[in-house]
Amino acid sequence: MQAAVITAPGVIEIQDVPKPTPQAGEVLLKVDASALCGTDQRVLRGEKPVSVAIIGHEVAGTVEAVGTDVEGITIGQRYAVQTVIGCGKCAPCKRHHQIRCLEGFKAIGYAWNGGFAEYMIMPREGVEQGCLIPIPDDMSAEVATLLEPISCCINGLRFFPFDEMKHVVVLSGGIIGVLNGLVAKAWGAETMTIMNRSQGRLDLIQELGLPFDHLVNTSITDPEAWVQENTNGLGVDGVVVPASAKELVPLGMKLLGMGGHLSIFAGMSKQDPFESIDLNDIHYRELHLHGANSSVRRDYEEAINLITSGKINAESLITHRFPLEQFNEAFKAQADPAVKSLKVVLEH
Ligand SMILES: [Zn+2]
Ligand SMILES: [Zn+2]
Repeated sequence: MQAAVITAPGVIEIQDVPKPTPQAGEVLLKVDASALCGTDQRVLRGEKPVSVAIIGHEVAGTVEAVGTDVEGITIGQRYAVQTVIGCGKCAPCKRHHQIRCLEGFKAIGYAWNGGFAEYMIMPREGVEQGCLIPIPDDMSAEVATLLEPISCCINGLRFFPFDEMKHVVVLSGGIIGVLNGLVAKAWGAETMTIMNRSQGRLDLIQELGLPFDHLVNTSITDPEAWVQENTNGLGVDGVVVPASAKELVPLGMKLLGMGGHLSIFAGMSKQDPFESIDLNDIHYRELHLHGANSSVRRDYEEAINLITSGKINAESLITHRFPLEQFNEAFKAQADPAVKSLKVVLEH
């Protein structure tokens, strides 16, 4: 089978590799579509080590074969892949909350080969833990690749009390910023503001007709002053930090009003993850800081809901499509701001 294989940091070759055979408990998926994400870019550039040569964790596929002892999986059915797999034995795993696995979770495309190939295996642990999520018949495979990143935003935004959320700010106009904004809007945020330093990025969001209320270029507009002006000096109710820039956390806190919520959605540089913040600001203004890391099945199911109910128009986010053989072109298209891509999908 064809696969995009990392042969050295930053070097990806389309190679012919053996098609995997499902062993006991495993499921073989024919990959229908897979999508590139920001984390993949870091892995492909060699900045984030993984233990496999084939990555890709935003995957939609059709079951082609199953090993012995596989139950509840139908050959010919299409599934999205839940990336995170836990130990399956600890209390969080037992309630299907593998992102809080006490043993530390592992993930498809990091610890097991992923979906940048014609076929991939869902390992036994993943099959047993319900990590194959059925895709509705009327959802295309390329749209289904968005279930993974949307589900991560859903997990992060579960901490926000949307019945009290009048104004939410997302501090990034990248795909994850956009998806956070779309979920917040779908869940009832009255006013949704995207802040970003690049006008090109904001123009792209505008051109795509996404349902945001304000797009603020923070290279020319001071975010604090803007929020003061646009909230009668009260501050906003929620801020999402979906970019690996730790100074955005204290900035986000400054944008919040009394009792506001801030989600630290992005992981920060492992070399320097520290940032000093005013703890009294959290105490006296009763701020809430939340972490969010990946997603589990209930989040995928809500992502399916938001798309099939029309609350999120996922199709409109896919700006570029490439065949798997052109993986390197896809990789470049996603990384180059001049290309103006939002979501880049590989059609297999
Ligand atoms: Zn991702
Ligand atoms: Zn566990």
